[in-house]
Amino acid sequence: MITIGVLNLQGAVSEHFVMTQKAIEKVDFDAEAKTVRYAADVADCDGIIISGGESTVIGKLIEERGISKIIKENNIPIFGTCAGMVLLSKKIDQEQPILRLMDIEVKRNAYGSQKNSFERKIEILGDIFQGIFIRAPAVEKIHEDNDNNEEIEILSKLDDIIIAVRQGNNIAMAFHPELTEDTRLHEYYLNLVLDSKN
Ligand code: GLN
Repeated sequence: MITIGVLNLQGAVSEHFVMTQKAIEKVDFDAEAKTVRYAADVADCDGIIISGGESTVIGKLIEERGISKIIKENNIPIFGTCAGMVLLSKKIDQEQPILRLMDIEVKRNAYGSQKNSFERKIEILGDIFQGIFIRAPAVEKIHEDNDNNEEIEILSKLDDIIIAVRQGNNIAMAFHPELTEDTRLHEYYLNLVLDSKN
């Protein structure tokens, strides 16, 4: 049984939880979704989803609660969307606690404020998806000095700006797949978690 924890500290948690449950119904392996708030619950998970929200708030709680340490010790595959992407990055454009798990440099609110939110069709994994961008970050740079020993795979670009990446078992997306009805990106992540166990 694979357990996917949706980190429930702040942000679009319930949407990710429902989406993960729907994706689990579609993949044919034994998995469950739960929401997690503390390091001990995170330690029981095979994968962790970090939702959109306010990365400053989520990052502070991840640090304070020792969740960062558990994620790194147990090498848990992370799926981060929007604020989750900010938190996975190695460097951002301001001082705040981040996980530094992916060798990417990210600019917060790259497209402006809430009122500059937008929807666009995006291409990812060879298919077309609806991309919902809400105060979205963007990957500004892929770091050459690759600390995490895995290649960065660019999964998607929008107008030449990198909006989705994978490095090893971690994936980061600037947009919000959990706000659509489309479970394919969650299914992709579930398969990644399963592969990481084999
Ligand atoms: N800009 C926000 C941040 O950096 C993220 C916005 C979002 O997750 N929708 O925290």
